[in-house]
Amino acid sequence: ATPITLDRLRKVYPDGTVAVDELSLDVDGGDVTVLIGPSGCGKSTVLRMVNRLIEPSGGRVLVGGEDVTRADPVRLRRTIGYVIQNVGLFPHQTVRTNVGTVPRMLGWDRKRIAERTDELLELVGLPPGQYSGRYPHELSGGQRQRVGFARALAADPVVLLMDEPFSAVDPINRGRLQDEFLRLREAVRKTTILVTHDLQEAVKLGDRIAVLSDHAHLEQYATPAELLAK
Ligand code: ADP
Ligand code: ADP
Repeated sequence: ATPITLDRLRKVYPDGTVAVDELSLDVDGGDVTVLIGPSGCGKSTVLRMVNRLIEPSGGRVLVGGEDVTRADPVRLRRTIGYVIQNVGLFPHQTVRTNVGTVPRMLGWDRKRIAERTDELLELVGLPPGQYSGRYPHELSGGQRQRVGFARALAADPVVLLMDEPFSAVDPINRGRLQDEFLRLREAVRKTTILVTHDLQEAVKLGDRIAVLSDHAHLEQYATPAELLAK
């Protein structure tokens, strides 16, 4: 599985805000690494640099040894699946069309996209016969989150980035979705970086936990067991 290396990664926004100040971190291939820390400490900024939605001001992100700033943008979309809070589904597109976003970008033929979409909806527990023609507003929050997860997995990425994926869901459904995520982890063993501010979630889902403070300073990097033993 593909490792991710953050090497003295730095982001200063144009207004002078130092969001990330020289963060170095090795994420082992196949692991779920959780970034946890207070609101505003730079977690989302780190993910956005890995996904190349924004450019670093310094340092490097290596995905499978390759510098993402040198990677072809379309190929990067294929390599990295991205799940965000509130999902960001396109409201005027059906579930099927939403899930097919990245495959369409990659120019897959229609039959292959349809088959893949059905397979993924089945995987995330939304039988396509019932759900593929629905629009996002016809789904519950938890169902939308599952569609977002299916969309992120559509082109079989090697890396999954998840930014507060469960925090917009009510507490009961959150627990169920977390359990489902663990179940899917067995089926799809991808290098994952998950951002959260919820310690319970970090301990439940993470293989390793990076505890960050302001400016994404790395305070601790440990397994859940090591962290709880302290
Ligand atoms: P977190 O995900 O941990 O809540 P963020 O990465 O969103 O933190 O933000 C880190 C810091 O960068 C915060 O101080 C935030 O206000 C600031 N920030 C985020 N985005 C921008 C931006 N586009 N321009 C200026 N400052 C920003
Ligand atoms: P935005 O305009 O929301 O900042 P983009 O234009 O890059 O982001 O992406 C459009 C939509 O595609 C967003 O809803 C985002 O969640 C999703 N998306 C972005 N990157 C990826 C990716 N690598 N894989 C899957 N979906 C992605």
